[in-house]
Amino acid sequence: MGTVTVVGSYVVDLMSRTPHMPKVGETVLGGPFRMGPGGKGGNQAVAAARQGSQVTMVTKVGKDDFGVIARQNFKRENIDTSYVLVDNVESTGAALIAVDNNGDNMIVVALGACGKLSAEDVAQTEEAIKNSSIVLVQLETNIEAVQKTAEITKRHNIPLILNPAPYQEFPREILKAVAYITPNETEATLLTGVKVTDEGSALQAAKVMYELGVPNVIITLGEKGCYYYNGGEKGILYQGFKVQAVDTTGAGDAFNGGLAHALAEGKNLEEAIKYANAVAALSVTKVGTAPAMPSKQEVADFLK
Ligand code: ATP
Repeated sequence: MGTVTVVGSYVVDLMSRTPHMPKVGETVLGGPFRMGPGGKGGNQAVAAARQGSQVTMVTKVGKDDFGVIARQNFKRENIDTSYVLVDNVESTGAALIAVDNNGDNMIVVALGACGKLSAEDVAQTEEAIKNSSIVLVQLETNIEAVQKTAEITKRHNIPLILNPAPYQEFPREILKAVAYITPNETEATLLTGVKVTDEGSALQAAKVMYELGVPNVIITLGEKGCYYYNGGEKGILYQGFKVQAVDTTGAGDAFNGGLAHALAEGKNLEEAIKYANAVAALSVTKVGTAPAMPSKQEVADFLK
C-alpha cells in the first residue's frame, strides 16, 4: 500500500444550489443546502484514501464543532489525523459555494485555522513526510508551510506534487523541490504569464515551468483531460473521459488525489495520469467535493 502525506487546507463546505448567481446586493432564494467536508487539502486526501492509499493529513482546524466534525470525517475515511492540529484563536475554515443550474460555481473560501499552518507546524511532521511514498501540497494555506514541506521532501528525497491552487504568489525557489506540478489552465497562466487556452499554449507554459526546475508538468484542461510535458519538443495530451458532468467542483482535487495514489502505489506516470483522469471524471458525475470522490471499486469498474 502506498503512503501519501497531504499538507494543506481543511474547510467546511457550505453549498447551495441557486437558480442564478446573485448580483451585488441581491439575495436569491436557493436550495437545496448541503454541508460537508472540503478544502483542497482535505478533498485530495479523501480522493487518495478512497483509492486505498494510507493517507496522513497535515492541517489546522479551530477549537469548535466544525473542527470536531473534521476529525471525525477524516477518521471515517481512514485518514491519519495525528497531524490535524488545533488553533486556539481562529475558527475552522469555511467555503461558501453557490452552484447554478448550469453547474457553474462561485466560491468564497475563508481559510480560518488552516491558513495559520506554520513552518513550525510542518516541521513537526518531518517523520510522517520522511516515511511517505509521495507528498501532496497546494497553495490554499500559508506559503511558509508550503516552503517547509518542500524543504523537508527535498532533504529526504521524497517526490512532491505541487498543485498550485488556488493561485497565489510564492517563491520560485520552491519549484526546485517539486517533482510534479499540476496547475489548471488559469493557474498555469498566472504562474507563467502564458495564456493557456489550448495544446499549443499549454506547451509554452509547460516549458516555462520546466525551465523553473519542475521535471514533470501536468496542466489539467477540464473535460479535455490534461497535457503532460517533461522536456523536449512537445508534450502529450491525455484525453479526458466522456461523462455526464453534474458538478465540476473538486475535479482538480480528485485528479490530484488520484495521481498521488497511483504514483504512491508504483504506477508509471502514464498509467497514473490515466488513473487520475478517471478519478476526476467520476467525481464530476456527483454533487459536492470530498463526498463526490469515487471509491476504488467505482474506478475499477469504470476502467474495465
Ligand atoms: P475545479 O477547480 O473545478 O476543482 P480544476 O479547474 O482544478 O477543477 P480541471 O482542469 O477543470 O481542474 O479538471 C481537472 C481534471 O478533471 C481534468 O484534467 C479531467 O481529468 C477531469 N474533468 C474535469 N471536468 C471534466 C468533465 N466535464 N468530464 C470529464 N472529466 C473532467
